[in-house]
Amino acid sequence: KFISLEGGEGSGKTTAMHFIREWLEAHNVPYIMTREPGGTPLAEDIRQLILSPRDEKVNDTTELLLVFAARAQHLAEKIQPALEKGVWVISDRFLDSSYVYQGKARGGDMAMLDLLANWVVGDNKPDATLLLDVPVDLGQARVIQRQHQDRLDKESQVFHQKVRDGFLERASMDPKRIKIIDASLSLPLVQQQIEDQLLRLSEA
Ligand code: C5P
Ligand code: MG
Repeated sequence: KFISLEGGEGSGKTTAMHFIREWLEAHNVPYIMTREPGGTPLAEDIRQLILSPRDEKVNDTTELLLVFAARAQHLAEKIQPALEKGVWVISDRFLDSSYVYQGKARGGDMAMLDLLANWVVGDNKPDATLLLDVPVDLGQARVIQRQHQDRLDKESQVFHQKVRDGFLERASMDPKRIKIIDASLSLPLVQQQIEDQLLRLSEA
């Protein structure tokens, strides 16, 4: 199975990845955990290009192409080989993040996104996507508390609202694949929702 985890800044993806790992270990499921942008040495280099703070303005088209370049590498060198061996792949972000960040939030051309998605990803879409949904205010409060912050954490409230709305819109367009996790609840309740989805997937 191929599962992606999605959500805005401060939605708790890192903690959710820990919950997923615990469940997979407990159920003896062979798996790898990976992330986007990144996941292979080359793709991680591209991630650095995208995320490191710089004086030069990052052109939106450049960013879009870099994200998809990293994804092509990630799919070919890591995701597909694992899936072919029957290993579950859990990716911290995947294609939906492009539609939301490069598309909805930065105003990228949706037809161009569809084109790149068909070309680079094709049928290699996740079997399921867990969307950690949290109100923008709460997400921002969590980001401010942590040490490491990247370029995107400094975006405006309006930007982060577009991100949240963009993910929810994606979920409403594809409710069979994208499952919304209420990430504003306490950690045990977030964990419970995630485990419910993993159990459902393992039986499917
Ligand atoms: O998942 P994480 O928060 O570590 O992602 C790092 C950064 O990359 C985030 O700020 C996220 O918004 C950004 N990103 C992006 N476009 C993507 C994927 C991630 O702008 N397609
Ligand atoms: Mg982040």
